[in-house]
Amino acid sequence: MTAKKNGKVQQGHYDVVILGGGNAALCAAITAARLGSSVIILEAAPKDWRGGNSRHTRNLRLAHDESNEVLTAPYTVEEFYSDLMRVTDGETDEDLARFTLEQSSELWDWLLEQGVRFQPSLGGTLQLSHTNAFFLGGGKALMNAMYRTAEAMGVEVRYDTEVVDLGFDDGHFTQATVRLADGSQEIIAGQSLVAAAGGFEANIEWLREYWGDAADNFIVRGTPYNRGGVLRLMLDNGMMAVGDPKQCHAVALDARAPKFDGGIVTRLDCVSLGIVVNADGDRFYDEGEDFWPKRYAIWGRLIAHQPDQIAHVIIDEKAQGLFMPSVFKPVTSDTIAGIATQLDLDPAKLEDTVATYNAAVVPGTFDTQRLDDCRTEQLDPPKTHWARRIDTPPFYGYSLRPGITFTYLGVRVNRNAQVLMADGRPTSNVFAAGEIMAGNVLGKGYLAGIGMTIGAVFGRIAGREAARRARN
Ligand SMILES: Cc1cc2nc3c(=O)[nH]c(=O)nc-3n(C[C@H](O)[C@H](O)[C@H](O)COP(=O)(O)OP(=O)(O)OC[C@H]3O[C@@H](n4cnc5c(N)ncnc54)[C@H](O)[C@@H]3O)c2cc1C
Repeated sequence: MTAKKNGKVQQGHYDVVILGGGNAALCAAITAARLGSSVIILEAAPKDWRGGNSRHTRNLRLAHDESNEVLTAPYTVEEFYSDLMRVTDGETDEDLARFTLEQSSELWDWLLEQGVRFQPSLGGTLQLSHTNAFFLGGGKALMNAMYRTAEAMGVEVRYDTEVVDLGFDDGHFTQATVRLADGSQEIIAGQSLVAAAGGFEANIEWLREYWGDAADNFIVRGTPYNRGGVLRLMLDNGMMAVGDPKQCHAVALDARAPKFDGGIVTRLDCVSLGIVVNADGDRFYDEGEDFWPKRYAIWGRLIAHQPDQIAHVIIDEKAQGLFMPSVFKPVTSDTIAGIATQLDLDPAKLEDTVATYNAAVVPGTFDTQRLDDCRTEQLDPPKTHWARRIDTPPFYGYSLRPGITFTYLGVRVNRNAQVLMADGRPTSNVFAAGEIMAGNVLGKGYLAGIGMTIGAVFGRIAGREAARRARN
């Protein structure tokens, strides 16, 4: 049914209106459609670019009691929980976090049912073989499978459809206003709403509110469409915020990466195998603090706090073959001074930093599969694991920038994925899933693969609850 309202075309009325077209949105859409709801997905991106950040992903982390053809050993909720506590330093909603991890044990079977296929873990510094299920064909294949399933079930998908306004009556959703590719606007009404439109990581102006000029040097690893418009509308309409606006998942990225959508191949995974220095040639953080999947997501923020938001990782020949290479070639030289010159660093300073580090290395038994005993002594900052002298030419160097993946500021939800108003009352028909509420579980830090876990768990719940609310 089409009608005119305030000069905008009013399109039909749906049981469940879903904002965004990534993993969380599709989990919600499929679940609601299976429960008999009429469902529409409103996706800002054109069809070729659908799938948001989810299309860049490779894996998700899930609890499981037994190994299988892909996961090499059990990963209990307890182990998952203790990993999460370690990376967040306890900055999480403990009840919601535990609930998320418990629910994650259903995801393997459920995703298989939706046509998603898995493959064994990739190697290198990731050590994910018993914790994370890798998507066969990557995030694009995952999203294609889920869109196929959703469309076969009658879910309507609108691309090039940006949500620019939301009608709420004291937290009760009534309608969404969307802008189409030709600039015209439409109104889409619904019984209930699932907000799955990501964080605000692609909105440099919004990031500048917290990071100042440093934000200009951030590289956005994923979709340019996650500008936080839906999040802003929800917060402006009195919904409760969760998360520190400065906290985010941000990695060390090759400084040559494109401003948006460079994806996984621009990430540098050799930090724990070498040393990282800033523009002054000084080390500034323990490169071997913990396993890489528990630390890689803090390095973007660490670099963001360095002068000019630039850093450089230096490795030697011994590190080759131990990490997933970036798509860009490193600079290389037989001398540290040669590396320094190519990276625009003071050669004498870099030689001194490397010599001081080498002198502090206590030899041990190098082993990337465990927190080994290769460490430094009397060095500040220390390198606590995988510390080996950088002494075997050729040497290699990469310049690094903060690569922002997603922000943690979001809306507060309960176990039903129901969004809360600022005074703590649950909204009646508004649900959220994915990045837009990930800050409920991730106060800080990150655990590789948990972004997709949070999106899939709360996407399914949001779809179920939105369908239930629409029926009543
Ligand atoms: C390079 C890269 C690699 C990653 N690898 C992994 C991994 O291997 N495992 C993992 O767990 N996590 C990974 N992540 C993080 C992961 O992508 C996110 O946690 C997850 O995809 C979030 O899902 P989502 O559905 O909430 O958001 P998205 O998949 O980003 O979907 C949000 C959607 O909302 C749409 N949208 C935004 N604003 C509007 C609007 N106003 N109107 C309409 N639509 C709108 C966007 O177009 C987008 O399609 C990676 C991220 C990146 C960038």
